[in-house]
Amino acid sequence: MYDDNNVFAKILRNEIPCNKVYEDDYSLFFHDINPQAKIHVLGIPKTKCVDFLDFISNSNTKNVSIFFNNVNIVVDKLNVRESGFRIISNSGINGGQEVFHFHIHILAGEKIGAFK
Ligand code: AMP
Repeated sequence: MYDDNNVFAKILRNEIPCNKVYEDDYSLFFHDINPQAKIHVLGIPKTKCVDFLDFISNSNTKNVSIFFNNVNIVVDKLNVRESGFRIISNSGINGGQEVFHFHIHILAGEKIGAFK
């Protein structure tokens, strides 16, 4: 169940600040407060969705499409189209999710190490 008090919900309500990269009516992309790479940006849809499956199952197709297409815009804003990047979405306990508003991590700016 979605918790309106999660930190990303507060960012969307402008109750706490973020370092914004891109925003439109459907989504917000901002720098992670604790970066795990030289560039570490988070992308969140503005709809209330707990995780990846909740987002793709319960959002309309237009919303899902625009969210993922916005990665194109953000990749150019970050100037990493040529150098590359990694997208991650942690989901649930075993996935290591800490904030229960669906988000993607975009890691870039250096060679991102292997993971198990
Ligand atoms: P996850 O473990 O996938 O749920 O990732 C949550 C991410 O949110 C972590 O990388 C945190 O560093 C990041 N985070 C938590 N609070 C904030 C905040 N106020 N602004 C930006 N990023 C945050």
